[in-house]
Amino acid sequence: MEAVELGVRLALDDDDWMDVAACKGLTHLFFPAPAERPQARQRREASARHVCASCSVRADCRSFARYHHEYGLWGGESEDERHSAGYRLIAPIGVRARGA
Ligand code: SF4
Repeated sequence: MEAVELGVRLALDDDDWMDVAACKGLTHLFFPAPAERPQARQRREASARHVCASCSVRADCRSFARYHHEYGLWGGESEDERHSAGYRLIAPIGVRARGA
């Protein structure tokens, strides 16, 4: 399966790009802790976006998350932003709760 997203031809079953992800070991920045408060979410996502800004596989990552309906922050894009861009979450619990 292939997709063209952000000018990148991506083989969706190929996850080799993950080998060079700048976020290795930083999972806590990219996924919320249980009962995370809005201000804490903003701070966490700002830190994650800073990491993504210099990541060499950002476009692949963003496309992967969009087409696989992932949760968390991928490719500098939050699940709310993916949802708003038309890449709906399968079970948009958090998005619905935040009114996005
Ligand atoms: S773009 Fe961000 S989330 Fe994606 S691999 Fe790079 S650092 Fe990780």
